Amino acid sequence: MRVLLYSTKPYDRLYFERARDTLDHTIDYLEARLDAHTARLAHGYDAVCTFVNDSVDEPIAQMLADGGTKLIALRCAGYNQVDLGAADRLGLTVVRVPAYSPHAVAEHTVAMMLSLNRQIYRAHMRVREGNFSLDGLLGFDMAGKTVGVIGTGQIGRVVMKILAGFGCELICYDVHASDEAVALGGRYVDLPTLYRQSDIVTLHCPLTPDTHHMIDEASIEQMKRGVMIVNTSRGALIDAAAAIDALKAGRIGHLGIDVYEEEADLFFEDLSNQVIQDDVLARLLTFPNVLVTSHQAYFTETALQNIAHTTMDNITAFAHGGKLVNRVAPHGA
Ligand code: NAD
Repeated sequence: MRVLLYSTKPYDRLYFERARDTLDHTIDYLEARLDAHTARLAHGYDAVCTFVNDSVDEPIAQMLADGGTKLIALRCAGYNQVDLGAADRLGLTVVRVPAYSPHAVAEHTVAMMLSLNRQIYRAHMRVREGNFSLDGLLGFDMAGKTVGVIGTGQIGRVVMKILAGFGCELICYDVHASDEAVALGGRYVDLPTLYRQSDIVTLHCPLTPDTHHMIDEASIEQMKRGVMIVNTSRGALIDAAAAIDALKAGRIGHLGIDVYEEEADLFFEDLSNQVIQDDVLARLLTFPNVLVTSHQAYFTETALQNIAHTTMDNITAFAHGGKLVNRVAPHGA
């Protein structure tokens, strides 16, 4: 198979080169994102391999199909960025990497909670400046706090397991309850109850029309004053403008985001010599109680290795007409 990888960084290339050692696929790497301008570069490639911010809408799917592409191999779990119906109509098969390391994302989620709570990022900057004062760094014990987990899939459950170890009370919401989450001490409640009772709300559900902007003015209004919200799932779960209003009013006490609705033109790039044009993100970055990371929750050695291996297995299975265990069905996985 001729495979074209979009949105690649040196670390992607390293792990894909290692993973393909014994396989006879031809792989080319592009730094560019897949968009209306770069889709034509896939002409003649059997497969394209894309990441979280490569959008495959209908016109792009059409261009890929016109160029002879048959397979879209997502090297991520989420597939909200792909028009699955259009892909299906155009004869494009979509595969993904459903689980490369739930631990990576869960551990980063908890790292954000702890950093926000104890303000590690501020403490570090202070001490480097010779300021050893503790004023403004007061945190709370995690033990005994109620954490509301929205989405008790693979990542949500690992978060619950870690937080159970801290002695947190765990309440959760999901459209499909999990026995494992209950065994971890989770108590399923409806969303209004979760919002009302949680000291920390952590998001681990996919981005769908149902979950788009689920954290908005109305839901924040139901939460405890000073709540901590952490989102390592997808940016558009949170209405960022509503979050800014709530931060200004003190309704949100801490906000940790590894994902941002408009991240596609920003995240993964070094823009330190440029002026950030996104005023919403720029405002978020001014709050002392907001921690932003640039979609790095997945970024561990284990995850990169698993992403590369599963993607190559998906491509090989497609090439040999084998069973596609990681196929994304036209209506979702
Ligand atoms: P998963 O499929 O195992 O779990 C998702 C859970 O969300 C499922 O239990 C599902 O029933 C539930 N869900 C679906 N719709 C819901 C709704 N409307 N309300 C509440 N729950 C709902 O997925 P996962 O592997 O745990 O990943 C969760 C999300 O994390 C992914 O969708 C992806 O967007 C995100 N993610 C982020 C990173 C990162 O680096 N930041 C990496 C991987 C995944």
